[in-house]
Amino acid sequence: MLDVKFKLTPSHTTERVWMEPSPLRTLFWNSTYACNFNCGVCFTNGGVPFTDELSTSEAMDTFKKAHDAGVRKIIISGGEPFMREDLIEILAYMGSIGLEARIASNGSLLTDDILRRLRDETLVKSFQISVDTIQPELYGEFHGVLPDRLASVLNIIESIKKHGFHTTVSSRLTPHTLPGIPDLMDRASMEGWATFTVHFPLHTGRSNYAFDQDTDFISLLRPAFDHFLALPKQWVIEMFIPWARYHPVVRHLEKRIRVVHAGCRAGRDRVTINPCGDISFCVCFDLPEFYLGNVRQDNLEDIFKDSKTCDMMRHPEKYGICADCANVQTCGGGCRVAAYSITGRLDGQDESCPVYKLQVKDEKKGA
Ligand code: SF4
Ligand code: SF4
Repeated sequence: MLDVKFKLTPSHTTERVWMEPSPLRTLFWNSTYACNFNCGVCFTNGGVPFTDELSTSEAMDTFKKAHDAGVRKIIISGGEPFMREDLIEILAYMGSIGLEARIASNGSLLTDDILRRLRDETLVKSFQISVDTIQPELYGEFHGVLPDRLASVLNIIESIKKHGFHTTVSSRLTPHTLPGIPDLMDRASMEGWATFTVHFPLHTGRSNYAFDQDTDFISLLRPAFDHFLALPKQWVIEMFIPWARYHPVVRHLEKRIRVVHAGCRAGRDRVTINPCGDISFCVCFDLPEFYLGNVRQDNLEDIFKDSKTCDMMRHPEKYGICADCANVQTCGGGCRVAAYSITGRLDGQDESCPVYKLQVKDEKKGA
């Protein structure tokens, strides 16, 4: 994901040395393609489940092996994860072997009873609920549901908070959601939601491609950054964007608030398993031609250690990525999904990078 997280309350935050070698520690699991919403910007094309999705026992076996390999955290998304009837059973099993879970959901299928069971029977730590906008009509249009669904989702967020889970509300950046981001921040501040996340759009899945992939999203968010800084309580901004620290708006922000650069960890300490068991390096990149293997027949740890794509993520310089840039060891060579969307090559240039843009501008001036 390309995310900016606005944290309103203190929580676990770590600054990382991005390119340092790391064992496999985290798994993303897109648990099903089934979804009861029909969001125009779904990055996994959620809707109807595939017939060959992992069974309960296959999922449990995968997580047992992952735990044996050192994985300690699973981030679960979909589709809508709670469309899986066995999800609580799987989460309880994960908890019994010491695996923590974080769940990204549309929130519509959660109930107080489910939340109580998750608190008592599992190691679920947090929820990320997609809200995108607090205007009911736009919410309905955006998610393909009736506008009054927003009120029930906001109620369930309140329950999530009351049950003691970390509460994140997320919005995907589109021309329609951009103007409403300050209102969502106000709501987060008022309701005590711990984190508000903005996802930058990537040209994958059912994106509406409303922005070019090399759009300067950070400059678009400048008014939102200013709004965040004016809130009565704000704690930290986390950037999950490889080159963010070189952006002038971010440099300016760093004079006013603590900014944590978490970069991209895809293929570096984590991989993604899709509903059918296929392994990808990045949660946003569910393309058959780039699958690294399948948990039904391949060893997850071997794939992580030996696949060329994960090696490229850990050593971009070996593959000629950003070969002329002195920042490559810190940045990691930009977002590979953005690079692929723009250039058609996984080892291409992430042309949304401000350092690259400046270099191109200077070359044009010099020509
Ligand atoms: S390649 Fe990295 S930065 Fe790009 S979408 Fe995937 S996780 Fe995010
Ligand atoms: S040119 Fe490449 S390595 Fe340099 S900052 Fe940009 S994306 Fe990162």
